[in-house]
Amino acid sequence: MKYIDEYRDRQLAHEYASAIASITTRPWTLMEICGGQTHSIVKHGIDRLIPSEITLIHGPGCPVCVTPIALIDQAIAIASQPNVTLCSFGDMLRVPGSSSDLLSAKASGADVRMVYSPLDAVKLAQQDSHRQVIFFAVGFETTAPITALAIAQAAQLGLDNFSILCAHVLVPPAMEAILSNPDHMMQGFLAAGHVCTVMGYGEYEAIAQRYQVPIVVTGFEPIDILQGIYLCIKQLEAGKAEVENQYARSVKKEGNQQAIAMMQEVFEATNRQWRGLAEIPESGLRLKDKYAAFDAQKRFNYEDNALEISESPLCISGLILQGTSKPHQCPSFGKACTPEHPLGAPMVSSEGACVAYYQHAVR
Ligand code: SF4
Repeated sequence: MKYIDEYRDRQLAHEYASAIASITTRPWTLMEICGGQTHSIVKHGIDRLIPSEITLIHGPGCPVCVTPIALIDQAIAIASQPNVTLCSFGDMLRVPGSSSDLLSAKASGADVRMVYSPLDAVKLAQQDSHRQVIFFAVGFETTAPITALAIAQAAQLGLDNFSILCAHVLVPPAMEAILSNPDHMMQGFLAAGHVCTVMGYGEYEAIAQRYQVPIVVTGFEPIDILQGIYLCIKQLEAGKAEVENQYARSVKKEGNQQAIAMMQEVFEATNRQWRGLAEIPESGLRLKDKYAAFDAQKRFNYEDNALEISESPLCISGLILQGTSKPHQCPSFGKACTPEHPLGAPMVSSEGACVAYYQHAVR
Protein backbone atom coordinates (compact mmCIF):
# COMPACT_ATOMS: atom_id res chain seq x y z
CA MET A 1 0.00 0.00 0.00
CA LYS A 2 1.44 3.35 -1.05
CA TYR A 3 2.93 5.37 1.84
CA ILE A 4 2.64 2.32 4.10
CA ASP A 5 4.69 -0.59 2.70
CA GLU A 6 7.75 1.48 1.79
CA TYR A 7 7.73 3.06 5.26
CA ARG A 8 7.66 -0.37 6.95
CA ASP A 9 10.44 -1.96 4.88
CA ARG A 10 12.51 -4.16 7.22
CA GLN A 11 15.72 -3.98 5.12
CA LEU A 12 15.49 -0.19 4.90
CA ALA A 13 14.90 0.01 8.65
CA HIS A 14 18.12 -1.90 9.31
CA GLU A 15 20.00 0.33 6.86
CA TYR A 16 18.78 3.44 8.70
CA ALA A 17 19.70 1.92 12.06
CA SER A 18 23.24 1.30 10.71
CA ALA A 19 23.39 4.84 9.32
CA ILE A 20 22.37 6.22 12.74
CA ALA A 21 25.02 4.07 14.44
CA SER A 22 27.68 5.28 12.00
CA ILE A 23 27.14 8.97 12.91
CA THR A 24 26.62 8.54 16.68
CA THR A 25 29.74 9.33 18.69
CA ARG A 26 28.25 9.92 22.17
CA PRO A 27 25.02 9.50 24.18
CA TRP A 28 22.03 11.60 23.11
CA THR A 29 18.52 11.95 24.52
CA LEU A 30 15.60 12.69 22.20
CA MET A 31 11.92 13.14 22.93
CA GLU A 32 9.20 12.06 20.53
CA ILE A 33 6.26 14.34 21.18
CA CYS A 34 3.34 12.28 20.01
CA GLY A 35 1.77 9.21 21.57
CA GLY A 36 1.25 7.79 18.06
CA GLN A 37 5.01 7.93 17.55
CA THR A 38 5.55 6.26 20.94
CA HIS A 39 3.29 3.38 19.90
CA SER A 40 5.14 2.98 16.61
CA ILE A 41 8.53 3.00 18.40
CA VAL A 42 7.47 0.36 20.92
CA LYS A 43 5.45 -1.77 18.48
CA HIS A 44 8.23 -1.96 15.89
CA GLY A 45 11.10 -2.23 18.40
CA ILE A 46 12.77 0.94 17.11
CA ASP A 47 14.19 1.72 20.56
CA ARG A 48 15.93 -1.67 20.46
CA LEU A 49 17.16 -1.23 16.88
CA ILE A 50 19.00 2.06 17.33
CA PRO A 51 22.36 2.37 19.12
CA SER A 52 22.16 2.06 22.92
CA GLU A 53 23.75 5.54 23.22
CA ILE A 54 20.44 7.06 22.06
CA THR A 55 17.68 7.34 24.65
CA LEU A 56 14.14 7.98 23.46
CA ILE A 57 11.89 9.74 25.95
CA HIS A 58 8.15 9.61 25.47
CA GLY A 59 6.56 13.05 25.46
CA PRO A 60 3.20 14.36 26.66
CA GLY A 61 1.61 14.06 23.21
CA CYS A 62 -1.49 12.13 24.25
CA PRO A 63 -4.27 14.71 24.64
CA VAL A 64 -6.56 12.32 26.52
CA CYS A 65 -3.75 11.59 29.01
CA VAL A 66 -3.16 15.27 29.83
CA THR A 67 -6.84 16.21 30.32
CA PRO A 68 -7.19 17.25 33.98
CA ILE A 69 -9.12 14.96 36.30
CA ALA A 70 -11.34 17.87 37.41
CA LEU A 71 -12.45 18.47 33.81
CA ILE A 72 -13.40 14.78 33.51
CA ASP A 73 -15.34 15.16 36.77
CA GLN A 74 -17.15 18.18 35.26
CA ALA A 75 -18.02 16.14 32.15
CA ILE A 76 -19.45 13.37 34.35
CA ALA A 77 -21.44 15.88 36.42
CA ILE A 78 -22.86 17.55 33.30
CA ALA A 79 -23.69 14.19 31.68
CA SER A 80 -25.56 13.13 34.81
CA GLN A 81 -28.03 16.02 34.54
CA PRO A 82 -31.53 15.43 33.07
CA ASN A 83 -32.14 16.09 29.36
CA VAL A 84 -28.43 16.15 28.59
CA THR A 85 -26.49 14.18 25.97
CA LEU A 86 -22.73 14.27 26.37
CA CYS A 87 -20.60 13.18 23.39
CA SER A 88 -16.88 12.63 23.01
CA PHE A 89 -14.30 10.48 21.28
CA GLY A 90 -14.15 6.85 22.42
CA ASP A 91 -10.84 7.10 24.31
CA MET A 92 -12.18 9.82 26.56
CA LEU A 93 -15.05 7.74 27.88
CA ARG A 94 -12.88 5.32 29.87
CA VAL A 95 -10.42 7.79 31.37
CA PRO A 96 -10.77 7.79 35.16
CA GLY A 97 -11.75 11.02 36.88
CA SER A 98 -11.42 11.36 40.64
CA SER A 99 -13.89 8.55 41.37
CA SER A 100 -15.54 7.41 38.14
CA ASP A 101 -15.48 7.66 34.34
CA LEU A 102 -17.96 8.57 31.62
CA LEU A 103 -18.73 4.96 30.70
CA SER A 104 -19.69 4.25 34.31
CA ALA A 105 -21.93 7.34 34.22
CA LYS A 106 -23.54 5.88 31.09
CA ALA A 107 -24.06 2.56 32.87
CA SER A 108 -25.80 4.51 35.64
CA GLY A 109 -28.25 6.02 33.15
CA ALA A 110 -26.50 9.13 31.78
CA ASP A 111 -26.83 9.69 28.03
CA VAL A 112 -23.14 9.46 27.07
CA ARG A 113 -22.33 8.78 23.43
CA MET A 114 -19.18 8.06 21.47
CA VAL A 115 -18.92 10.12 18.27
CA TYR A 116 -16.31 10.23 15.51
CA SER A 117 -16.67 13.96 14.94
CA PRO A 118 -18.07 17.00 16.77
CA LEU A 119 -20.23 17.50 13.67
CA ASP A 120 -22.12 14.32 14.71
CA ALA A 121 -22.89 16.06 18.02
CA VAL A 122 -24.20 19.11 16.14
CA LYS A 123 -26.51 16.76 14.19
CA LEU A 124 -27.79 15.27 17.46
CA ALA A 125 -28.55 18.79 18.74
CA GLN A 126 -30.44 19.54 15.52
CA GLN A 127 -32.47 16.34 15.82
CA ASP A 128 -33.69 16.96 19.38
CA SER A 129 -34.07 20.58 20.44
CA HIS A 130 -35.31 19.53 23.91
CA ARG A 131 -31.96 18.05 24.88
CA GLN A 132 -28.76 19.93 25.63
CA VAL A 133 -25.97 18.29 23.59
CA ILE A 134 -22.43 18.82 24.84
CA PHE A 135 -19.29 17.81 22.98
CA PHE A 136 -16.34 17.12 25.30
CA ALA A 137 -13.68 18.55 22.98
CA VAL A 138 -10.29 16.90 23.45
CA GLY A 139 -7.19 17.00 21.31
CA PHE A 140 -4.23 18.99 20.06
CA GLU A 141 -4.16 21.26 17.03
CA THR A 142 -5.15 18.20 14.99
CA THR A 143 -8.76 18.08 16.21
CA ALA A 144 -9.28 21.72 17.22
CA PRO A 145 -10.17 22.87 13.66
CA ILE A 146 -13.09 20.43 13.38
CA THR A 147 -14.36 21.52 16.81
CA ALA A 148 -14.12 25.12 15.60
CA LEU A 149 -16.10 24.16 12.49
CA ALA A 150 -18.78 22.53 14.67
CA ILE A 151 -19.12 25.74 16.69
CA ALA A 152 -19.33 27.85 13.54
CA GLN A 153 -21.95 25.46 12.14
CA ALA A 154 -24.00 25.53 15.36
CA ALA A 155 -23.85 29.35 15.34
CA GLN A 156 -24.99 29.46 11.72
CA LEU A 157 -27.89 27.09 12.51
CA GLY A 158 -28.82 29.18 15.55
CA LEU A 159 -28.64 26.15 17.87
CA ASP A 160 -29.11 27.05 21.51
CA ASN A 161 -28.85 23.45 22.73
CA PHE A 162 -25.25 22.73 21.61
CA SER A 163 -22.09 23.55 23.55
CA ILE A 164 -18.57 22.25 24.13
CA LEU A 165 -16.56 21.41 27.21
CA CYS A 166 -13.21 22.51 25.88
CA ALA A 167 -10.02 20.56 26.71
CA HIS A 168 -8.03 21.42 23.57
CA VAL A 169 -4.31 21.92 24.17
CA LEU A 170 -1.40 23.23 22.12
CA VAL A 171 1.95 21.53 21.56
CA PRO A 172 4.57 24.34 21.35
CA PRO A 173 3.86 25.77 24.86
CA ALA A 174 4.23 22.25 26.31
CA MET A 175 7.60 21.86 24.57
CA GLU A 176 8.68 25.20 26.03
CA ALA A 177 7.51 24.14 29.50
CA ILE A 178 9.60 20.97 29.26
CA LEU A 179 12.64 22.86 28.00
CA SER A 180 12.28 25.53 30.70
CA ASN A 181 12.66 22.92 33.42
CA PRO A 182 16.31 23.22 34.51
CA ASP A 183 16.41 19.43 35.07
CA HIS A 184 15.25 18.52 31.59
CA MET A 185 17.34 15.99 29.68
CA MET A 186 16.11 16.65 26.15
CA GLN A 187 18.69 17.36 23.48
CA GLY A 188 16.44 17.03 20.45
CA PHE A 189 12.78 16.63 19.52
CA LEU A 190 10.80 14.61 17.02
CA ALA A 191 7.82 16.93 16.48
CA ALA A 192 4.40 15.47 15.73
CA GLY A 193 3.77 15.22 11.98
CA HIS A 194 -0.02 15.45 12.17
CA VAL A 195 0.01 18.58 14.35
CA CYS A 196 2.43 20.20 11.89
CA THR A 197 0.22 19.15 8.97
CA VAL A 198 -2.35 21.54 10.41
CA MET A 199 -0.13 24.22 11.94
CA GLY A 200 3.02 24.07 9.81
CA TYR A 201 6.36 24.34 11.59
CA GLY A 202 7.17 28.05 11.53
CA GLU A 203 6.45 28.40 15.26
CA TYR A 204 9.08 25.75 16.10
CA GLU A 205 11.94 27.82 14.68
CA ALA A 206 11.96 30.25 17.62
CA ILE A 207 11.94 27.29 20.08
CA ALA A 208 14.87 25.58 18.31
CA GLN A 209 16.83 28.80 18.39
CA ARG A 210 15.94 29.87 21.95
CA TYR A 211 16.71 26.49 23.55
CA GLN A 212 19.34 25.36 21.05
CA VAL A 213 17.63 22.06 20.26
CA PRO A 214 17.13 20.47 16.87
CA ILE A 215 13.47 19.78 16.08
CA VAL A 216 12.63 17.33 13.30
CA VAL A 217 9.00 17.18 12.14
CA THR A 218 8.47 13.42 11.93
CA GLY A 219 5.81 11.00 10.71
CA PHE A 220 4.53 7.84 12.33
CA GLU A 221 5.73 4.83 10.34
CA PRO A 222 8.95 3.05 11.38
CA ILE A 223 11.01 4.48 8.51
CA ASP A 224 9.65 7.96 9.25
CA ILE A 225 10.81 7.70 12.84
CA LEU A 226 14.22 6.25 11.94
CA GLN A 227 14.71 9.07 9.40
CA GLY A 228 13.65 11.60 12.06
CA ILE A 229 16.16 10.16 14.54
CA TYR A 230 18.89 10.16 11.87
CA LEU A 231 18.29 13.82 11.00
CA CYS A 232 18.18 14.81 14.67
CA ILE A 233 21.42 12.98 15.56
CA LYS A 234 23.11 14.37 12.46
CA GLN A 235 22.30 17.92 13.65
CA LEU A 236 23.36 17.17 17.23
CA GLU A 237 26.68 15.71 16.10
CA ALA A 238 27.25 18.81 13.93
CA GLY A 239 26.32 21.21 16.77
CA LYS A 240 23.24 22.49 14.90
CA ALA A 241 19.80 23.40 16.29
CA GLU A 242 17.44 23.80 13.36
CA VAL A 243 13.94 22.75 12.34
CA GLU A 244 13.84 20.08 9.64
CA ASN A 245 10.87 18.45 7.98
CA GLN A 246 11.08 14.66 7.59
CA TYR A 247 7.32 14.40 6.95
CA ALA A 248 7.33 16.47 3.77
CA ARG A 249 4.73 14.23 2.11
CA SER A 250 2.16 15.74 4.48
CA VAL A 251 3.62 18.88 6.09
CA LYS A 252 4.19 22.29 4.55
CA LYS A 253 5.90 25.06 6.49
CA GLU A 254 2.77 27.22 6.39
CA GLY A 255 0.45 24.36 7.41
CA ASN A 256 -3.21 24.21 6.44
CA GLN A 257 -4.24 27.86 6.23
CA GLN A 258 -7.96 27.12 6.08
CA ALA A 259 -7.84 25.01 9.25
CA ILE A 260 -5.74 27.63 11.05
CA ALA A 261 -8.18 30.39 10.03
CA MET A 262 -11.10 28.31 11.35
CA MET A 263 -9.35 27.86 14.71
CA GLN A 264 -8.46 31.54 14.91
CA GLU A 265 -12.06 32.52 14.17
CA VAL A 266 -13.44 30.54 17.13
CA PHE A 267 -10.67 30.04 19.70
CA GLU A 268 -8.05 32.02 21.59
CA ALA A 269 -5.14 30.80 23.70
CA THR A 270 -5.51 30.49 27.47
CA ASN A 271 -3.53 29.10 30.39
CA ARG A 272 -4.28 25.39 30.80
CA GLN A 273 -3.69 22.79 33.47
CA TRP A 274 -2.07 19.62 32.06
CA ARG A 275 -2.51 16.39 33.96
CA GLY A 276 0.97 15.48 35.17
CA LEU A 277 2.59 18.74 34.04
CA ALA A 278 0.85 21.49 36.05
CA GLU A 279 -0.43 24.73 34.49
CA ILE A 280 1.26 25.85 31.28
CA PRO A 281 0.77 29.46 30.12
CA GLU A 282 -1.13 29.94 26.85
CA SER A 283 -1.21 26.17 26.24
CA GLY A 284 -4.95 25.68 25.92
CA LEU A 285 -7.78 26.95 23.77
CA ARG A 286 -10.98 28.65 24.92
CA LEU A 287 -13.89 30.07 22.97
CA LYS A 288 -13.67 33.72 21.98
CA ASP A 289 -16.25 35.99 23.60
CA LYS A 290 -18.44 36.05 20.50
CA TYR A 291 -18.89 32.26 20.80
CA ALA A 292 -19.20 32.20 24.63
CA ALA A 293 -22.81 31.01 24.35
CA PHE A 294 -21.41 27.65 23.22
CA ASP A 295 -19.26 27.23 26.33
CA ALA A 296 -20.67 24.34 28.41
CA GLN A 297 -18.87 25.55 31.55
CA LYS A 298 -20.77 28.83 31.34
CA ARG A 299 -24.04 27.14 30.41
CA PHE A 300 -23.84 24.73 33.36
CA ASN A 301 -22.18 27.18 35.78
CA TYR A 302 -18.86 25.44 36.18
CA GLU A 303 -15.72 27.47 36.60
CA ASP A 304 -12.50 26.68 34.80
CA ASN A 305 -10.66 27.01 38.08
CA ALA A 306 -9.55 24.55 40.71
CA LEU A 307 -8.61 22.08 38.00
CA GLU A 308 -6.26 20.47 40.46
CA ILE A 309 -4.58 17.15 39.97
CA SER A 310 -5.40 14.48 42.52
CA GLU A 311 -3.95 11.42 40.83
CA SER A 312 -4.21 7.96 42.36
CA PRO A 313 -1.23 7.67 44.73
CA LEU A 314 -0.36 4.44 42.89
CA CYS A 315 -0.03 6.22 39.54
CA ILE A 316 3.20 7.93 38.38
CA SER A 317 1.74 9.21 35.11
CA GLY A 318 3.05 12.72 35.89
CA LEU A 319 6.62 11.42 35.75
CA ILE A 320 5.87 9.49 32.56
CA LEU A 321 4.32 12.51 30.85
CA GLN A 322 7.36 14.59 31.81
CA GLY A 323 9.62 11.91 30.37
CA THR A 324 11.49 11.21 33.60
CA SER A 325 10.16 7.64 34.04
CA LYS A 326 9.16 4.84 31.66
CA PRO A 327 5.83 3.00 32.07
CA HIS A 328 7.39 -0.32 33.10
CA GLN A 329 9.11 1.50 35.97
CA CYS A 330 5.72 2.19 37.55
CA PRO A 331 5.15 -0.29 40.44
CA SER A 332 1.47 -0.62 39.38
CA PHE A 333 2.23 -1.37 35.72
CA GLY A 334 0.61 -4.65 34.65
CA LYS A 335 -0.39 -5.41 38.25
CA ALA A 336 -2.87 -2.98 39.85
CA CYS A 337 -3.03 -1.12 36.51
CA THR A 338 -3.98 -2.79 33.22
CA PRO A 339 -6.02 -1.61 30.19
CA GLU A 340 -9.02 -3.47 31.68
CA HIS A 341 -8.58 -1.75 35.08
CA PRO A 342 -6.63 1.48 34.41
CA LEU A 343 -5.47 3.64 37.30
CA GLY A 344 -4.33 6.48 35.07
CA ALA A 345 -5.06 7.95 31.64
CA PRO A 346 -1.88 6.66 29.92
CA MET A 347 -3.23 3.12 30.41
CA VAL A 348 -6.51 4.04 28.66
CA SER A 349 -5.87 6.11 25.59
CA SER A 350 -4.84 4.47 22.32
CA GLU A 351 -1.97 6.99 22.36
CA GLY A 352 -1.01 6.41 26.00
CA ALA A 353 2.57 5.31 26.70
CA CYS A 354 1.51 2.77 29.36
CA VAL A 355 -0.87 1.05 26.92
CA ALA A 356 1.92 0.94 24.32
CA TYR A 357 4.28 -0.80 26.76
CA TYR A 358 1.53 -3.16 27.93
CA GLN A 359 0.30 -4.12 24.45
CA HIS A 360 3.77 -4.72 23.11
CA ALA A 361 4.96 -6.59 26.19
CA VAL A 362 7.72 -4.23 27.30
CA ARG A 363 8.45 -5.26 30.90
S1 SF4 B 1 0.99 2.02 34.60
FE1 SF4 B 1 -0.99 2.80 35.29
S2 SF4 B 1 -0.61 3.49 37.36
FE2 SF4 B 1 1.38 3.35 36.35
S3 SF4 B 1 1.73 5.36 35.44
FE3 SF4 B 1 0.76 4.13 33.87
S4 SF4 B 1 -1.41 4.64 34.08
FE4 SF4 B 1 -0.43 5.28 36.00
